[in-house]
Amino acid sequence: MNTYPNIFKKLDLGFIELKNRIIMGSMHTGLEEIGDWKRISEFYASRARGQVALIITGGIGPNKEGSVLPGASMMMTDDDVKNHMISTKAVHEEGGKIVMQILHAGRYAYNDKAVAPSPIKAPISPFTPRELDEEGIEKQISDIAQSAFLAKCAGYDGVEIMGSEGYLINQFLVNHTNKRKDSWGGSYKNRIRFPLEIVKRIREKVGKNFLLIYRLSVIDLIPNGSSWEEVILLAKEIEKAGVNILNSGIGWHEARIPTIATSVPKRAFSWVTKKLYGNVSIPIIASNRINSPKIAEDVLSDKCADLVSLARPFLADSEFVRKAFENKANEIVPCIACNQACLDHTFSMKLTSCLVNPRACRETELNYEKVIKSKKIAVVGAGPAGISFSITAAQRGHLISLFEENSEIGGQLNFAKMIPGKEEFYGLLNYYENEIKRLKINLITDHKVEMADLINFDEVIIATGVVPRKIDIQGQAKVNFVYNYQDVFSDKITIGNRIAIIGAGGIGFDIAEYISRSDISPTLDINKWMKIWGVTDPEIERGGVIQKNDLIENGSSKEIFLLQRKNEKVGKRLGKTTGWIHRKSLEKKNVKMLAGVNYEKITPEGLLISFGEEKRNIKMLKVDTIIVCAGQTSEISLAEALSPSNINYHIIGGAKKANELDAKSAIDNGCRLAAQL
Ligand code: NAP
Ligand code: SF4
Repeated sequence: MNTYPNIFKKLDLGFIELKNRIIMGSMHTGLEEIGDWKRISEFYASRARGQVALIITGGIGPNKEGSVLPGASMMMTDDDVKNHMISTKAVHEEGGKIVMQILHAGRYAYNDKAVAPSPIKAPISPFTPRELDEEGIEKQISDIAQSAFLAKCAGYDGVEIMGSEGYLINQFLVNHTNKRKDSWGGSYKNRIRFPLEIVKRIREKVGKNFLLIYRLSVIDLIPNGSSWEEVILLAKEIEKAGVNILNSGIGWHEARIPTIATSVPKRAFSWVTKKLYGNVSIPIIASNRINSPKIAEDVLSDKCADLVSLARPFLADSEFVRKAFENKANEIVPCIACNQACLDHTFSMKLTSCLVNPRACRETELNYEKVIKSKKIAVVGAGPAGISFSITAAQRGHLISLFEENSEIGGQLNFAKMIPGKEEFYGLLNYYENEIKRLKINLITDHKVEMADLINFDEVIIATGVVPRKIDIQGQAKVNFVYNYQDVFSDKITIGNRIAIIGAGGIGFDIAEYISRSDISPTLDINKWMKIWGVTDPEIERGGVIQKNDLIENGSSKEIFLLQRKNEKVGKRLGKTTGWIHRKSLEKKNVKMLAGVNYEKITPEGLLISFGEEKRNIKMLKVDTIIVCAGQTSEISLAEALSPSNINYHIIGGAKKANELDAKSAIDNGCRLAAQL
């Protein structure tokens, strides 16, 4: 008996049957843009092999003005058809189904040819779009319909029309971006003409037996977004126009409310999809922050939707569905919703991958083949680098002994998991513990390795990680309230009420979150999270967002200063897609962020600082606690001891390079070395 009865129900749409209720949602990976169709087809085919019911491709532009940026993938020509055919064929050969998402970016298009219903620049784009005239509107509709037709020619099972996240179709729907006075603007009846015409025209072009999914923005999360009445009306009209399935779009890209970050509660928006359920008779898909079979099953059994869409979890593990089917959910590599190797890469024009699975989008080049002859390998340090090496090498057939000085595995991840909003790290550590057992890795904890431990191994891997960087400010040695970030998590110290954090990198931000925490993390309490971020029922406020939401949420009423020497915006170097969330979260807690700081002196009164090269505005921050979060240095004492010996060793992770090391590079290091030995 399968643990997830609702997931593993088939869905029969007459002309097409889906083998279960899990869909791989659209993700922009950048693969299509590099044009290596063998690689693209293997990326999709491996997910189909993993038994996902339906794959939705990344957004494909219907024309130049509508594609997300110059050089982005489009479906316009016979060559495009031929290329896409390679991946549809590969997916079909694996017994899978695939639809192409048509995405017209409108004013979000990163190019000076961008078009929109009205010439209003988006806050997230430098380009002011050109207002479409009647002829221009007709061209966009016709290009979108033609793109759908070509997708059919390329062997796709259908198309998804991207009608949400603030892209062109969405831009027609709300007054905020549609100021037109003609028959495409003004009344809601006029504004919805654009999506309805698109659906109608696509249906005419592709005939009956071709899947049409429409991604409908169920909650815009922008001021003056759609009202709930409008959402329902659009859903009904879209159904009448010939769509087979409705997908839930959550929030415009310009919304200042996080929708998929790790601090967003699990299934945070399934209640909105549930409100829609029953208003139409076609199946509905729920999405956002669904990352385990249990959550997917709960969303389905709570009758929020007929299907669930997961996107990033399929980067983390292509076999997600098969493992769920085989009741092996604890073997699924969990997506921790960090965005670090997926969306942050996309927005830095880099190919997508995955922090927990460096093979994602590299399926044709990074392979973990079974070894012919096993080696005995000692791994020293069970942090992210050491663990990923051990798991990957053990999967390949090597015999691994994993040594850890502490009583628990995880290294720096054990600090990360304590931070409110980063609870996903518990899941990752559970997965690692389970894999270590399953793969029969010989784990030796509470043991500080010495040379003698390492002599009987074929290879030794030094993954001893990092130690907090020590700094020396004048007067520091004379006071007893200066700690490093690791001390904060021990029960040996007491944090006062006025705190200066030295260093505003990822760890400084995390520490500020940690010491200003309240009793329960908002990530674990959806009502609290919604209140903090001003999210409400779209039936109460248009767009589901409370317009004035200045709530200060400092659970501890501590006064916190977050300091850096660099004279640039504090938090500027955090994740591209998540930095703003960390900043906003601390602003809501009234954490004071100061840049361009010189640390002059520490006295019993506190920390004396000045600003800039000219050392102006000297002032005393009257603090009773100073926490140093000034980066790390490599822990290499063991490597140094091994250097003169004839032991065959390799250094990975933080022990190799501490500067700007994060879990992404540590895991990547571990997996890549394990693939080679
Ligand atoms: P980091 O990002 O390198 O930040 C270190 C901070 O310390 C900087 O703000 C730096 O700023 C300051 N600093 C460096 N040397 C100093 C010195 N001698 N005296 C005083 N201040 C000094 O390091 P981290 O915060 O420890 O993070 C480590 C890694 O973990 C990073 O790569 C990060 O990506 C990752 N991480 C990321 C997140 C996240 O994105 N949310 C969270 C946790 C960890 P100034 O030089 O301007 O003073
Ligand atoms: Fe998930 Fe992070 Fe991997 Fe992206 S990089 S798929 S968010 S674990």
